[in-house]
Amino acid sequence: MSDKILVIGEARDGELRNVSYEAIAAAKKIKADSEIVGVICSNDDIESQAQEMIYYGADRVVTIKHENLKTYTPEGFGQALMRVINDESPSGIVMGHTSIGKDLTPKIASKLETGLVSDAVEIESDGDNVQFIRPIYSGKAFEKKIITSGLTFVTIRPNNIPMLKRDESRSGDVNSKDVDVTDIRTIIKDVIRKASEGVDLSEANVIIAGGRGVKSADGFKPLYELADVLGGAVGASRGACDADYCDYSLQIGQTGKVVTPDLYIAVGISGAIQHLAGMSNSKVIVAINKDAEANIFNVADYGIVGDLFEIIPLLIEEIKKI
Ligand code: FAD
Repeated sequence: MSDKILVIGEARDGELRNVSYEAIAAAKKIKADSEIVGVICSNDDIESQAQEMIYYGADRVVTIKHENLKTYTPEGFGQALMRVINDESPSGIVMGHTSIGKDLTPKIASKLETGLVSDAVEIESDGDNVQFIRPIYSGKAFEKKIITSGLTFVTIRPNNIPMLKRDESRSGDVNSKDVDVTDIRTIIKDVIRKASEGVDLSEANVIIAGGRGVKSADGFKPLYELADVLGGAVGASRGACDADYCDYSLQIGQTGKVVTPDLYIAVGISGAIQHLAGMSNSKVIVAINKDAEANIFNVADYGIVGDLFEIIPLLIEEIKKI
């Protein structure tokens, strides 16, 4: 096997997600001197995105363009990627632990009859071995995994492994590969997205999350205003989603999204273990709750005990002054 690591880039609406660049940094941590080959499947013109992968540390990039890769399907992307994997014979593969990564990588691993370390949040080397650190038991503990033989196949949690510095002086080949992606049972003709505004929750650096304490859909308005002034996104607890204050696409937790922003402000959220599973790895956690005994204060770096309807407007006012 060659010393070559494939990094599967993930494009959305023609733009690569940040986790694609983080995956390049992860590949460098696995073996700094291996050749890093980016791969992008899409139906958009992605040459400029391929170039970005090179600026962020890839040595070359393979693009596969096909109309059946316009929208993700496991068969379509699986076929395209298996072709690249067979042609390149890499020693490692890295992808983001996103909805697509979670669905696609086990299928590829099973085809390759190899193992997979999923959801790594850190990669360490002790000289002899590369250790992959991943959360277990809903984030209550961490385990270290070592791959002792075969392919190093890993998914990484977004927002945990910092991307390398963008360097426009880097150069590398971008080659397009013709792959016939027609032998598939499902073709997605169209995707009608819910109108969503602002920053993508899973990649946001700042998240303002509301819980049942916000009391109504209208009660979320100040949270959106705070998110606006901080350039962040709004999330929610399942309590708030169940109460119909907001859409389930905002749910954070064990059965929702897992997020790791730089700043997480939990507003009127009690801190149930299922909620903590989705946010406790955030870099700085601020909790606003009128109950000083609420469990959320046990994971918070900063806590404000009080009524959220008084505190949020004050925060907005003060932040606007900065
Ligand atoms: P509550 O527990 O009702 O807390 C509301 C909080 O608001 C209280 O602490 C209260 O003091 C505070 N408050 C009220 N009024 C104010 C005010 N004016 N100012 C300030 N504070 C105020 N939950 C998730 O979040 N994500 C998940 O993914 C998830 N998955 C689950 C999976 C399973 C299998 C199960 C069983 C449960 C799951 N849950 C999940 C639900 C979870 O157990 C809790 O029920 C839920 O997180 C509670 O939401 P909450 O904190 O908004 O509501």
